[in-house]
Amino acid sequence: MSRHRNIRSMNVHDEYEGYDDVYGHSVEDDYGVSPATEAQFMYRRSEAPRLSSFIEESKKESIEEEEEYDYDDQEDHDHSLSDSQTFQWPRLSDQNEARLRSCLEEIHNVIGDSVPQHVLVDTVMRCDYDLDKALDAVLSLQDKPKEARPPPTAAAPPKTQGTGAGDRWQQAPAADSCHAKEEAAPRVAQVSTPRRQVKTGFQPVAARSKQVTTGFQVPPTDTREVIAENGLGSSTEAGEREDQQAMPTSQKAAGKTKQVLDVAAELSKRDEGKEVINMVIIGHVDAGKSTLMGHLLYRLGHVNKKTMHKYEVESQKAGKASFAYAWVLDETGEERVRGITMDVGLTKFETDHKVVTLLDAPGHRDFIPNMITGAAQADVAILVVDASTGEFEAGFEAGGQTREHAMLVRSLGVTQLAVAVNKLDTVGWSENRYQEIVKKLGHFLKQAGFKDSDVVYIPVSGLQGENLIKPASEPPLTTWYKGPCLLQQIDSFKSPPRPVDKPFRFCVSDVFKGMGSGFSVAGRMVAGSIQNGTRVMVMPSGETATVKGIAMHDFPMNWACAGDHATLTITGTDIMKVSVGSVLCDLANPIQAASRIKARVIIFNIDVPITKGFPVVFHYQTLSEPANIRKLISLLHKSTGEVTRNKPRCLSKGNNAVIEVELNRPVCLELYKDNKDLGRFMLRYGSATIAAGVVTEIP
Ligand code: GDP
Repeated sequence: MSRHRNIRSMNVHDEYEGYDDVYGHSVEDDYGVSPATEAQFMYRRSEAPRLSSFIEESKKESIEEEEEYDYDDQEDHDHSLSDSQTFQWPRLSDQNEARLRSCLEEIHNVIGDSVPQHVLVDTVMRCDYDLDKALDAVLSLQDKPKEARPPPTAAAPPKTQGTGAGDRWQQAPAADSCHAKEEAAPRVAQVSTPRRQVKTGFQPVAARSKQVTTGFQVPPTDTREVIAENGLGSSTEAGEREDQQAMPTSQKAAGKTKQVLDVAAELSKRDEGKEVINMVIIGHVDAGKSTLMGHLLYRLGHVNKKTMHKYEVESQKAGKASFAYAWVLDETGEERVRGITMDVGLTKFETDHKVVTLLDAPGHRDFIPNMITGAAQADVAILVVDASTGEFEAGFEAGGQTREHAMLVRSLGVTQLAVAVNKLDTVGWSENRYQEIVKKLGHFLKQAGFKDSDVVYIPVSGLQGENLIKPASEPPLTTWYKGPCLLQQIDSFKSPPRPVDKPFRFCVSDVFKGMGSGFSVAGRMVAGSIQNGTRVMVMPSGETATVKGIAMHDFPMNWACAGDHATLTITGTDIMKVSVGSVLCDLANPIQAASRIKARVIIFNIDVPITKGFPVVFHYQTLSEPANIRKLISLLHKSTGEVTRNKPRCLSKGNNAVIEVELNRPVCLELYKDNKDLGRFMLRYGSATIAAGVVTEIP
């Protein structure tokens, strides 16, 4: 009783505050109900319906027992086809399930939802997951009734158009099983999805004779078949013609105009013919990287005066007035509070001849893995060094990031470098200081593998904006410096070749759920090209997915190609199957996933020699993965590459060697000789980079 009293005297609102989201607790439960109202909810045995009334009721309508879908039994199977409610998804291996889902989605893209799912599943399985055959079979199911009825025309569409699939099923005669299926299936002309909406894959011109990227079995094709497969799914000319006949004229026209995109030609037209270049900003923490690039962007008009003023006021309030320009790039609260760049920022700006994607990499040693991610995506680099007294030395000597960053970008394939000798205002634009830095750095950069001709030094002040987008104007500087300003140098970088004709590869650096269906992945396209609607494979999970949207710097695009940083919206796979480090690739030519590789490495400055079984972190593109050095195979001569010793006991500073690396789980890789970007990696131990390597063999 006391418990009840407590409940009665309890303040319901207090007790249940915050309970709104408790399962089974409705808003109404929070309100008291008067005894009179309560009465209507009370259970009265006398008024309860008797069980027998249900039985009598059920006798009136005969309830047919539903049968389970059984693939082994053709009779049952055919029966089940007449009722999609009884359909059960077949039990398949993971691979077959992926193949089945892939084919179903492709077929849905072509014919819409006009054929029941179980018919499609059955057809695809009978055709051994061959998309072409299955699509042919489904389309021919749809074509059969056409013989019995007059062919539809654009002017007079068939009366059945627009009726639900269920209606058509009712019209189907229940003859023999196969026939029933054929009769039941709707005709092509009834397909509500217009042909031009069919999402298709495409191929770059140079690869036209190669295989097409949809389906699992790909017959030899020519250009016509590429279009046929993507648009109509018919592998024969006759089949194609038949399909075309069954289509309304407007759809035929749409089918004809569908073209294979010439990526190289489109690329030359994009951005008024300007070449795309990916540029990473590297250097020791506090060298002034963010300030320099923030000011450059401001001067280029990418940040309006109002926003800049806001940054100035806010940074002043936060006691960090000198960081106002850095705030243009350091976007997160923590970056601003700590005054350091942590993540890789991505911004775009244009010069006279280039579209530059700017990657502002963190300089702090804690964030070197992020820096590697940025550098792995870059074509060229700007190394920012602090010229103020003692600061250049601090960044350059052991423990500073100037050396490590320069070594890393070189090992990751960056060959062109601009060195921004920054904060020269603090040393009165001294030429001597500039020359001292050029000399010290020049020597080191040459050792790191940069050609003298590929390195340019530019005296600047990021804070004052001197020599950034206009030639030097400070009198002490103009007396001795006549070279290009930073922007001119960026404009004159050579763009690396874009392997648009190689199989599609997209390295994922971010996965997020956006608006609408599916989810989005951001990253860099390393090879090939992609168009909206293309089916791709996600490696290493082996899942297939469809690219439903492409965006570059928040602008929607129809296509993108090698060298582009893009965000792709994908559907048809689970977000859990895609992660940072995944590679989206060509269905017909997927990238390999390996957990053991042979590689040629160069060992950096290390204190402890590397022995067999040495644990490392494997940094590759956007991924870092625990690994260990399984075997030390041979030592190589530094310049000739000849084997000088087999099975060395250990590797030390400066050694060139062949080793075997074992990873904790499979990683998408390619041989260096096939794809330089996807065949390179770095090894780190503790907080130091100990080696750079290239993949020579995937056993
Ligand atoms: P980051 O860590 O390399 O990105 O360096 P920041 O851009 O955050 O700059 C670090 C500090 O150096 C800030 O206080 C800047 O105001 C200051 N700084 C950057 N460039 C210059 C410059 O050219 N001259 C002077 N005097 N200070 C600068």
